[in-house]
Amino acid sequence: MDNEISALRTIIRGSDNIVFFGGAGVSTESGIPDFRSTSGLYNMKYEYPPETMLSHSFFMSNTLEFYRFYRDKMVHLDAKPNPAHYKLAELESQGIVKAIVTQNIDNLHQMAGSRCVHELHGSVHRNYCMRCRTPYPVEKIMKSEGVPKCDCGGTIKPDVVLYEEPLDQKVVDNAVEAIRNADVLIVGGTSLNVYPAAGLLRYYNGGKLVLINKSELPQERNAVLVIRGSIGEVFSQV
Ligand code: ZN
Repeated sequence: MDNEISALRTIIRGSDNIVFFGGAGVSTESGIPDFRSTSGLYNMKYEYPPETMLSHSFFMSNTLEFYRFYRDKMVHLDAKPNPAHYKLAELESQGIVKAIVTQNIDNLHQMAGSRCVHELHGSVHRNYCMRCRTPYPVEKIMKSEGVPKCDCGGTIKPDVVLYEEPLDQKVVDNAVEAIRNADVLIVGGTSLNVYPAAGLLRYYNGGKLVLINKSELPQERNAVLVIRGSIGEVFSQV
C-alpha cells in the first residue's frame, strides 16, 4: 500500500481544492456500526428491519418504537473522531480541503474541527419540535423517556433524513456545487450504492477521482487512484 499512499500524498499536496465524499465506513472506524451491514443483529431484538423503523411512515405511526431503536442504535455520543476526521480537518485549516460531503449523521467531522460539512442525511445533534419548530439538543432525546415532547406538547423529531423523506435541497445544492468545482475528489468508506451518492459523483469533472474503500467498486475504472484499505489507516499516513 506504500506506493498508493505516496501517490495520494502527491495528489493532496498538489491541490488546494479537494472535496471529500464520505460514507458509513468513515464512521465505523470510530466504532459506529453501519446498520445496513449488521441488520441480522437487530432481528433478535426488534420486530422490524432497520429500514422500516427508520422510515417516515414508521416514525409517524410507531413513534415510541422508532425512538427505542433510534436511541439504542443510531445515536453514539461516546464516539470519537478517528485519524481520517482529524486529517481532513487539518487539511481544511491549511486551505487544501474545501468541503466534506457526508452521509453520516454523527457530527464527527465537526468534532474533529471541520467547518464546511454538507450533511446529506442530517444530524442526530439537531432536533426540533414538529409543532412549533423549537430546536432541541440530542441530550433532550437521550434523556427523555418514551416519545420526546416539546414544552408545547408537540413531538420532537430528529433532523435526520428518514427513508421516504427527500433530502434537504439546499444541502444537496451545496454539495453539488462543491463537487462540481472540486479539483480533486476523494471518496472514502462508501460502497456508493446508497442514494444519492453515486448520482452526486456525476457532477465531478476534475479528472482526479481517488477511491478509498475496503471492497472493490464499479467506479474504479474512472479513478486515478484506488486504495483498498481502511480510511483511518490511509489518512493517518498521509
Ligand atoms: Zn413545540
